[in-house]
Amino acid sequence: MKKIVVIPGDGIGKEITDSAVAVLKKIDEKFKIGLEFEYHDAGGASYDKYGEPLTAETLDACKAADAVLFGAVGGPKWDNIEVSKRPEKALFGLRKGLGLYGNLRPVKIYDALIDGSPLKKEIVAGADILIVRELVGGIYFGPRCESEFVDGVERAFDTEVYSVPEIERIARLAFESARKRRKKVTSVDKANVLASSRLWRRVVNEISKEYDDIELNHLYVDNCSAQLAIKPTQFDVVLSSNMFSDILSDEFAAIGGSLGLLPSISIGGITNLAEAISGSAPDIAGKGIANPIGEILSAALLLRYSLKNENAAQAIESAVDKTLADGYRTADIYKDGLNRVNTVEMTNAIIDRI
Ligand code: NAD
Repeated sequence: MKKIVVIPGDGIGKEITDSAVAVLKKIDEKFKIGLEFEYHDAGGASYDKYGEPLTAETLDACKAADAVLFGAVGGPKWDNIEVSKRPEKALFGLRKGLGLYGNLRPVKIYDALIDGSPLKKEIVAGADILIVRELVGGIYFGPRCESEFVDGVERAFDTEVYSVPEIERIARLAFESARKRRKKVTSVDKANVLASSRLWRRVVNEISKEYDDIELNHLYVDNCSAQLAIKPTQFDVVLSSNMFSDILSDEFAAIGGSLGLLPSISIGGITNLAEAISGSAPDIAGKGIANPIGEILSAALLLRYSLKNENAAQAIESAVDKTLADGYRTADIYKDGLNRVNTVEMTNAIIDRI
Protein backbone atom coordinates (compact mmCIF):
# COMPACT_ATOMS: atom_id res chain seq x y z
CA MET A 1 0.00 0.00 0.00
CA LYS A 2 1.04 3.61 -0.58
CA LYS A 3 -0.01 5.94 2.22
CA ILE A 4 -1.10 9.46 1.31
CA VAL A 5 -1.57 11.88 4.20
CA VAL A 6 -4.33 14.32 3.25
CA ILE A 7 -4.37 17.72 4.99
CA PRO A 8 -7.45 19.66 3.86
CA GLY A 9 -6.66 22.69 6.08
CA ASP A 10 -9.00 25.69 5.87
CA GLY A 11 -11.35 27.47 3.48
CA ILE A 12 -11.59 25.79 0.07
CA GLY A 13 -8.91 23.31 1.20
CA LYS A 14 -11.53 20.69 2.07
CA GLU A 15 -13.44 21.09 -1.21
CA ILE A 16 -10.38 20.83 -3.43
CA THR A 17 -8.70 17.98 -1.52
CA ASP A 18 -12.02 16.05 -1.70
CA SER A 19 -11.82 16.47 -5.49
CA ALA A 20 -8.19 15.37 -5.71
CA VAL A 21 -8.83 12.32 -3.51
CA ALA A 22 -11.84 11.33 -5.66
CA VAL A 23 -9.61 11.52 -8.74
CA LEU A 24 -6.84 9.53 -7.04
CA LYS A 25 -9.38 6.82 -6.10
CA LYS A 26 -10.38 6.55 -9.76
CA ILE A 27 -6.69 6.36 -10.74
CA ASP A 28 -6.18 3.62 -8.16
CA GLU A 29 -9.04 1.60 -9.66
CA LYS A 30 -7.43 1.89 -13.07
CA PHE A 31 -3.72 1.52 -12.24
CA LYS A 32 -4.02 -0.73 -9.12
CA ILE A 33 -1.47 1.28 -7.11
CA GLY A 34 -2.95 0.43 -3.68
CA LEU A 35 -3.50 3.93 -2.30
CA GLU A 36 -4.64 4.53 1.26
CA PHE A 37 -5.59 7.92 2.67
CA GLU A 38 -5.06 9.21 6.20
CA TYR A 39 -6.51 12.59 7.18
CA HIS A 40 -4.87 15.17 9.47
CA ASP A 41 -5.55 18.76 10.49
CA ALA A 42 -3.31 21.78 10.01
CA GLY A 43 -3.66 25.55 9.97
CA GLY A 44 -6.71 27.23 11.50
CA ALA A 45 -8.54 23.90 11.75
CA SER A 46 -5.74 22.52 13.92
CA TYR A 47 -5.48 25.72 15.97
CA ASP A 48 -9.21 25.53 16.78
CA LYS A 49 -8.93 21.89 17.93
CA TYR A 50 -5.49 21.72 19.53
CA GLY A 51 -4.34 25.34 20.02
CA GLU A 52 -1.47 24.78 17.54
CA PRO A 53 -1.43 25.23 13.73
CA LEU A 54 0.74 22.13 13.34
CA THR A 55 0.89 19.32 15.87
CA ALA A 56 3.79 16.89 16.27
CA GLU A 57 1.32 14.11 15.42
CA THR A 58 0.54 15.65 12.01
CA LEU A 59 4.22 16.22 11.23
CA ASP A 60 5.11 12.65 12.26
CA ALA A 61 2.28 11.26 10.11
CA CYS A 62 3.66 13.22 7.12
CA LYS A 63 7.17 11.91 7.77
CA ALA A 64 5.84 8.34 7.74
CA ALA A 65 3.74 8.77 4.57
CA ASP A 66 4.65 8.12 0.93
CA ALA A 67 3.34 11.59 0.03
CA VAL A 68 1.31 14.48 1.42
CA LEU A 69 -1.65 16.09 -0.33
CA PHE A 70 -2.19 19.55 1.15
CA GLY A 71 -5.20 21.86 0.63
CA ALA A 72 -4.68 25.39 1.94
CA VAL A 73 -4.52 27.19 5.27
CA GLY A 74 -5.53 30.58 6.61
CA GLY A 75 -8.48 32.92 6.67
CA PRO A 76 -9.81 36.07 8.36
CA LYS A 77 -10.96 34.10 11.42
CA TRP A 78 -7.32 33.67 12.47
CA ASP A 79 -5.89 36.99 11.25
CA ASN A 80 -5.53 38.49 14.72
CA ILE A 81 -4.14 35.60 16.71
CA GLU A 82 -0.58 35.51 18.05
CA VAL A 83 1.95 35.35 15.17
CA SER A 84 3.46 32.00 16.22
CA LYS A 85 0.01 30.36 16.12
CA ARG A 86 -1.11 31.71 12.74
CA PRO A 87 -2.32 29.08 10.22
CA GLU A 88 0.49 29.87 7.74
CA LYS A 89 2.98 28.64 10.36
CA ALA A 90 1.68 25.13 9.63
CA LEU A 91 2.93 25.31 6.08
CA PHE A 92 6.31 26.73 7.06
CA GLY A 93 6.55 24.07 9.79
CA LEU A 94 5.78 21.28 7.33
CA ARG A 95 8.27 22.58 4.75
CA LYS A 96 11.02 22.95 7.32
CA GLY A 97 10.09 19.78 9.26
CA LEU A 98 10.07 17.66 6.12
CA GLY A 99 13.15 19.40 4.66
CA LEU A 100 11.34 20.43 1.47
CA TYR A 101 13.85 22.86 -0.04
CA GLY A 102 12.46 22.98 -3.57
CA ASN A 103 9.02 23.83 -4.89
CA LEU A 104 8.17 23.05 -8.52
CA ARG A 105 5.32 25.03 -10.10
CA PRO A 106 4.54 24.23 -13.71
CA VAL A 107 2.66 27.03 -15.51
CA LYS A 108 0.97 26.00 -18.72
CA ILE A 109 -1.44 27.89 -20.94
CA TYR A 110 -4.28 25.62 -22.02
CA ASP A 111 -5.38 26.13 -25.65
CA ALA A 112 -8.99 25.93 -24.47
CA LEU A 113 -8.44 28.78 -21.98
CA ILE A 114 -6.25 31.09 -24.02
CA ASP A 115 -9.03 33.67 -24.45
CA GLY A 116 -9.29 33.85 -20.64
CA SER A 117 -5.69 35.03 -20.25
CA PRO A 118 -5.27 38.69 -19.32
CA LEU A 119 -2.48 38.77 -21.96
CA LYS A 120 -3.13 38.91 -25.70
CA LYS A 121 -3.45 35.53 -27.35
CA GLU A 122 -0.44 36.10 -29.64
CA ILE A 123 1.75 36.98 -26.63
CA VAL A 124 0.76 34.13 -24.34
CA ALA A 125 0.27 31.27 -26.84
CA GLY A 126 2.78 28.49 -26.23
CA ALA A 127 3.96 29.70 -22.81
CA ASP A 128 5.12 26.68 -20.81
CA ILE A 129 7.18 27.49 -17.71
CA LEU A 130 8.49 25.66 -14.66
CA ILE A 131 9.13 27.82 -11.62
CA VAL A 132 11.72 26.38 -9.24
CA ARG A 133 11.32 28.09 -5.90
CA GLU A 134 13.75 27.89 -2.97
CA LEU A 135 11.44 27.02 -0.10
CA VAL A 136 13.16 26.85 3.28
CA GLY A 137 15.62 29.73 3.29
CA GLY A 138 15.78 33.45 2.59
CA ILE A 139 13.79 36.21 4.20
CA TYR A 140 10.87 33.99 5.29
CA PHE A 141 13.18 32.12 7.64
CA GLY A 142 15.91 34.67 8.46
CA PRO A 143 16.30 36.56 11.75
CA ARG A 144 13.43 38.96 12.35
CA CYS A 145 12.11 41.43 14.85
CA GLU A 146 8.41 42.19 15.17
CA SER A 147 8.98 45.43 17.04
CA GLU A 148 11.84 47.24 18.73
CA PHE A 149 12.52 50.83 19.73
CA VAL A 150 15.70 52.61 18.72
CA ASP A 151 16.04 56.17 20.02
CA GLY A 152 12.32 56.14 20.78
CA VAL A 153 11.36 55.13 17.21
CA GLU A 154 9.60 51.81 16.61
CA ARG A 155 10.90 49.58 13.83
CA ALA A 156 10.71 45.98 12.59
CA PHE A 157 12.93 43.93 10.30
CA ASP A 158 13.29 40.67 8.40
CA THR A 159 16.59 39.34 7.07
CA GLU A 160 17.41 37.62 3.78
CA VAL A 161 20.07 34.97 4.45
CA TYR A 162 21.34 32.39 1.96
CA SER A 163 24.27 30.02 2.35
CA VAL A 164 26.28 28.49 -0.50
CA PRO A 165 24.92 24.93 0.04
CA GLU A 166 21.32 26.21 0.06
CA ILE A 167 21.87 27.94 -3.29
CA GLU A 168 23.81 25.02 -4.76
CA ARG A 169 21.08 22.44 -4.12
CA ILE A 170 18.23 24.55 -5.52
CA ALA A 171 20.35 25.53 -8.54
CA ARG A 172 21.05 21.86 -9.25
CA LEU A 173 17.32 21.11 -9.02
CA ALA A 174 16.67 23.84 -11.61
CA PHE A 175 19.38 22.60 -13.99
CA GLU A 176 18.24 18.96 -13.64
CA SER A 177 14.64 20.05 -14.32
CA ALA A 178 15.75 22.01 -17.40
CA ARG A 179 17.45 18.90 -18.76
CA LYS A 180 14.02 17.22 -18.97
CA ARG A 181 12.54 20.31 -20.70
CA ARG A 182 13.83 22.92 -23.16
CA LYS A 183 17.25 23.25 -21.53
CA LYS A 184 17.12 26.86 -20.41
CA VAL A 185 17.34 28.31 -16.89
CA THR A 186 16.56 31.93 -16.04
CA SER A 187 17.85 32.80 -12.58
CA VAL A 188 16.08 35.76 -10.99
CA ASP A 189 17.66 37.96 -8.33
CA LYS A 190 18.32 41.55 -7.30
CA ALA A 191 22.11 41.41 -7.55
CA ASN A 192 22.37 45.12 -8.37
CA VAL A 193 21.25 45.89 -4.79
CA LEU A 194 21.37 42.85 -2.47
CA ALA A 195 24.47 41.05 -1.19
CA SER A 196 22.48 37.80 -0.81
CA SER A 197 21.55 38.09 -4.52
CA ARG A 198 25.17 38.63 -5.52
CA LEU A 199 26.09 35.39 -3.72
CA TRP A 200 23.08 33.71 -5.37
CA ARG A 201 24.27 34.78 -8.84
CA ARG A 202 27.89 33.73 -8.20
CA VAL A 203 26.87 30.26 -6.96
CA VAL A 204 24.35 29.71 -9.78
CA ASN A 205 27.10 30.61 -12.30
CA GLU A 206 29.44 28.15 -10.59
CA ILE A 207 26.89 25.29 -10.64
CA SER A 208 26.04 26.02 -14.29
CA LYS A 209 29.56 24.82 -15.20
CA GLU A 210 28.36 21.29 -14.35
CA TYR A 211 25.58 21.68 -16.91
CA ASP A 212 27.11 22.90 -20.15
CA ASP A 213 24.11 21.58 -22.13
CA ILE A 214 21.84 24.09 -20.33
CA GLU A 215 21.61 27.76 -21.33
CA LEU A 216 21.66 30.12 -18.32
CA ASN A 217 20.64 33.75 -18.16
CA HIS A 218 20.07 36.11 -15.25
CA LEU A 219 17.31 38.68 -14.79
CA TYR A 220 16.69 41.20 -12.05
CA VAL A 221 13.38 40.46 -10.39
CA ASP A 222 11.80 43.76 -11.48
CA ASN A 223 12.78 43.14 -15.09
CA CYS A 224 11.55 39.54 -14.85
CA SER A 225 8.07 40.67 -13.82
CA ALA A 226 8.00 43.02 -16.84
CA GLN A 227 9.39 40.39 -19.22
CA LEU A 228 6.65 38.01 -18.16
CA ALA A 229 4.01 40.41 -19.44
CA ILE A 230 6.01 41.26 -22.58
CA LYS A 231 7.18 37.82 -23.72
CA PRO A 232 6.27 34.88 -21.47
CA THR A 233 7.39 32.38 -24.12
CA GLN A 234 11.06 33.31 -23.46
CA PHE A 235 10.98 31.34 -20.18
CA ASP A 236 11.58 27.64 -19.65
CA VAL A 237 12.81 27.05 -16.06
CA VAL A 238 12.71 30.09 -13.76
CA LEU A 239 14.87 29.75 -10.63
CA SER A 240 14.56 32.12 -7.71
CA SER A 241 14.66 32.68 -3.98
CA ASN A 242 11.81 31.99 -1.59
CA MET A 243 10.21 35.45 -1.60
CA PHE A 244 10.93 36.47 -5.20
CA SER A 245 9.41 33.27 -6.56
CA ASP A 246 6.48 33.48 -4.14
CA ILE A 247 5.58 36.86 -5.65
CA LEU A 248 6.47 36.05 -9.25
CA SER A 249 4.63 32.76 -9.28
CA ASP A 250 1.27 34.45 -8.66
CA GLU A 251 1.98 36.75 -11.59
CA PHE A 252 2.99 33.78 -13.72
CA ALA A 253 -0.15 31.94 -12.57
CA ALA A 254 -2.39 34.84 -13.49
CA ILE A 255 -1.40 34.65 -17.16
CA GLY A 256 -3.19 31.28 -17.27
CA GLY A 257 -6.47 32.93 -16.30
CA SER A 258 -6.98 31.72 -12.72
CA LEU A 259 -4.99 30.94 -9.60
CA GLY A 260 -7.18 27.87 -9.23
CA LEU A 261 -5.60 26.10 -12.19
CA LEU A 262 -2.05 25.64 -11.05
CA PRO A 263 -0.43 22.77 -9.17
CA SER A 264 2.81 22.51 -7.26
CA ILE A 265 4.94 19.98 -5.48
CA SER A 266 7.55 20.55 -2.80
CA ILE A 267 10.43 18.11 -2.89
CA GLY A 268 13.92 17.32 -1.63
CA GLY A 269 13.11 16.14 1.89
CA ILE A 270 11.63 13.18 3.77
CA THR A 271 8.22 13.17 2.01
CA ASN A 272 7.03 15.30 -0.90
CA LEU A 273 4.07 17.62 -0.41
CA ALA A 274 1.69 18.41 -3.28
CA GLU A 275 -0.63 21.43 -3.15
CA ALA A 276 -2.45 23.83 -5.44
CA ILE A 277 -0.66 27.18 -5.53
CA SER A 278 -3.67 29.19 -4.41
CA GLY A 279 -4.63 30.01 -0.85
CA SER A 280 -7.75 29.15 1.13
CA ALA A 281 -9.91 31.61 -0.90
CA PRO A 282 -12.15 32.67 2.03
CA ASP A 283 -14.33 34.72 -0.35
CA ILE A 284 -15.66 31.56 -2.04
CA ALA A 285 -15.07 28.91 0.66
CA GLY A 286 -18.03 26.65 1.40
CA LYS A 287 -19.93 27.66 -1.75
CA GLY A 288 -18.87 24.59 -3.73
CA ILE A 289 -17.63 26.70 -6.64
CA ALA A 290 -13.83 26.53 -6.22
CA ASN A 291 -11.86 25.36 -9.21
CA PRO A 292 -10.43 21.95 -8.22
CA ILE A 293 -8.02 21.68 -11.18
CA GLY A 294 -4.91 23.05 -9.40
CA GLU A 295 -5.31 20.47 -6.64
CA ILE A 296 -6.16 17.64 -9.06
CA LEU A 297 -3.04 18.44 -11.11
CA SER A 298 -1.07 18.51 -7.84
CA ALA A 299 -2.25 14.92 -7.32
CA ALA A 300 -0.78 14.18 -10.76
CA LEU A 301 2.57 15.66 -9.64
CA LEU A 302 2.35 13.50 -6.50
CA LEU A 303 1.98 10.42 -8.70
CA ARG A 304 4.91 11.53 -10.89
CA TYR A 305 7.39 12.66 -8.24
CA SER A 306 6.49 10.55 -5.18
CA LEU A 307 5.05 7.34 -6.58
CA LYS A 308 7.07 7.43 -9.84
CA ASN A 309 3.96 6.54 -11.83
CA GLU A 310 4.25 8.61 -15.00
CA ASN A 311 1.35 6.87 -16.77
CA ALA A 312 -1.05 7.62 -13.93
CA ALA A 313 0.13 11.25 -13.80
CA GLN A 314 -0.42 11.65 -17.52
CA ALA A 315 -3.87 10.05 -17.29
CA ILE A 316 -4.93 12.88 -14.96
CA GLU A 317 -3.29 15.59 -17.06
CA SER A 318 -4.88 14.48 -20.30
CA ALA A 319 -8.28 14.08 -18.59
CA VAL A 320 -8.01 17.72 -17.44
CA ASP A 321 -7.04 18.79 -21.00
CA LYS A 322 -10.07 16.96 -22.42
CA THR A 323 -12.46 18.32 -19.81
CA LEU A 324 -11.43 21.90 -20.59
CA ALA A 325 -11.52 21.24 -24.34
CA ASP A 326 -15.07 19.88 -23.87
CA GLY A 327 -16.11 23.26 -22.44
CA TYR A 328 -16.46 22.56 -18.70
CA ARG A 329 -15.76 25.72 -16.70
CA THR A 330 -15.93 26.63 -13.01
CA ALA A 331 -16.98 30.22 -12.24
CA ASP A 332 -13.39 31.60 -12.18
CA ILE A 333 -12.77 30.60 -15.83
CA TYR A 334 -16.33 30.76 -17.16
CA LYS A 335 -17.13 32.43 -20.50
CA ASP A 336 -20.55 32.79 -22.14
CA GLY A 337 -21.78 29.78 -24.07
CA LEU A 338 -19.69 27.21 -22.18
CA ASN A 339 -20.74 24.61 -19.63
CA ARG A 340 -20.73 26.29 -16.20
CA VAL A 341 -20.12 23.70 -13.45
CA ASN A 342 -19.41 23.61 -9.72
CA THR A 343 -16.49 21.93 -7.96
CA VAL A 344 -18.07 18.47 -7.79
CA GLU A 345 -19.32 18.57 -11.39
CA MET A 346 -15.88 19.59 -12.68
CA THR A 347 -14.32 16.77 -10.65
CA ASN A 348 -16.78 14.21 -12.00
CA ALA A 349 -16.21 15.39 -15.57
CA ILE A 350 -12.45 14.83 -15.10
CA ILE A 351 -13.04 11.41 -13.50
CA ASP A 352 -15.28 10.42 -16.45
CA ARG A 353 -12.40 11.21 -18.81
CA ILE A 354 -9.76 9.14 -16.96
P1 NAD B 1 -6.15 33.14 -2.40
O1 NAD B 1 -5.29 32.38 -3.37
O2 NAD B 1 -6.80 32.35 -1.35
O3 NAD B 1 -7.29 33.92 -3.23
C1 NAD B 1 -6.98 34.92 -4.20
C2 NAD B 1 -8.16 35.01 -5.19
O4 NAD B 1 -8.14 33.86 -6.05
C3 NAD B 1 -9.52 35.00 -4.49
O5 NAD B 1 -10.40 35.86 -5.17
C4 NAD B 1 -9.99 33.57 -4.63
O6 NAD B 1 -11.39 33.41 -4.65
C5 NAD B 1 -9.37 33.16 -5.96
N1 NAD B 1 -9.09 31.72 -5.97
C6 NAD B 1 -8.08 31.10 -5.32
N2 NAD B 1 -8.17 29.78 -5.51
C7 NAD B 1 -9.25 29.56 -6.29
C8 NAD B 1 -9.86 28.40 -6.82
N3 NAD B 1 -9.37 27.18 -6.59
N4 NAD B 1 -10.96 28.55 -7.57
C9 NAD B 1 -11.46 29.76 -7.83
N5 NAD B 1 -10.93 30.91 -7.37
C10 NAD B 1 -9.83 30.80 -6.60
O7 NAD B 1 -5.21 34.28 -1.79
P2 NAD B 1 -5.48 35.35 -0.63
O8 NAD B 1 -6.88 35.86 -0.74
O9 NAD B 1 -4.33 36.25 -0.71
O10 NAD B 1 -5.33 34.53 0.73
C11 NAD B 1 -6.41 33.96 1.45
C12 NAD B 1 -5.87 33.17 2.63
O11 NAD B 1 -5.08 32.08 2.14
C13 NAD B 1 -4.94 33.98 3.53
O12 NAD B 1 -5.20 33.63 4.86
C14 NAD B 1 -3.55 33.56 3.11
O13 NAD B 1 -2.60 33.70 4.14
C15 NAD B 1 -3.80 32.10 2.78
N6 NAD B 1 -2.82 31.51 1.83
C16 NAD B 1 -2.55 30.20 2.02
C17 NAD B 1 -1.72 29.56 1.13
C18 NAD B 1 -1.47 28.10 1.33
O14 NAD B 1 -2.09 27.49 2.17
N7 NAD B 1 -0.59 27.50 0.56
C19 NAD B 1 -1.19 30.24 0.03
C20 NAD B 1 -1.53 31.58 -0.14
C21 NAD B 1 -2.35 32.21 0.75
